[in-house]
Amino acid sequence: MLDLESLFNLSYGMCIVSSKTDGQFNGCIVNTVFQVTPEPPMIAVSVNKQNLTHEYIARSKVFAVSILAEGAPLEFIGRFGFRTGRDIDKFQEINCKTGVAGVPIVLDNTVGFIEAEVTDAIDVETHTLFIGKITACETIDSNKIPITYNYYRDVKGGRTPRTAATYIKQKPKVKAEQGAREMKKYKCLMCGYIYDPAVGDPDNGVEAGTAFEDLPDDWVCPDCGVGKDEFEPIED
Ligand code: FE
Repeated sequence: MLDLESLFNLSYGMCIVSSKTDGQFNGCIVNTVFQVTPEPPMIAVSVNKQNLTHEYIARSKVFAVSILAEGAPLEFIGRFGFRTGRDIDKFQEINCKTGVAGVPIVLDNTVGFIEAEVTDAIDVETHTLFIGKITACETIDSNKIPITYNYYRDVKGGRTPRTAATYIKQKPKVKAEQGAREMKKYKCLMCGYIYDPAVGDPDNGVEAGTAFEDLPDDWVCPDCGVGKDEFEPIED
């Protein structure tokens, strides 16, 4: 038996992992940061090889972890979790500082941060497990509560990007509704994702041939987690 849904019973935090290269900054959200040893203090993080942040950490051998707080808006999480630093500067208009390694530390919606120097990088198929020695760590706001992955999923209704270490493909549930009427594509105003009715959203249970209007009311953008209200039709 391989009930992948049962893996959601594991508890995780959520962090922005950031790094730098050639004066450029980037960061992405991961739920796979953990302390490995107390002495010397070491942490590890699993990062998808497709993420730009992966490339930056592999090159600079330094990274920072900004620990997200419960109040973090979905739009903020979407910016770091679902958009790519290849298209936007994720740190623009974000309150941050650079730490001892010159890597950006996010001060908005965070509880604290950890900085580390990479000591090992373990190749794990699609991901790399970066292990690092902690060079600095601090609480930013002790009044805030660190967000857990379950809180993000269950309370905030957050989604999991396809590149996440804990991503699980969903089976289609919705019956296709083929109609003679024209079905328009819709674009997510938050992240640019395009819903194409000819393709549907099979990873999230929406079969090909489902018009945008026929998507369930609780359907959200598979890339950034915003609702249908944040979409607009693409005119031909
Ligand atoms: Fe989106």
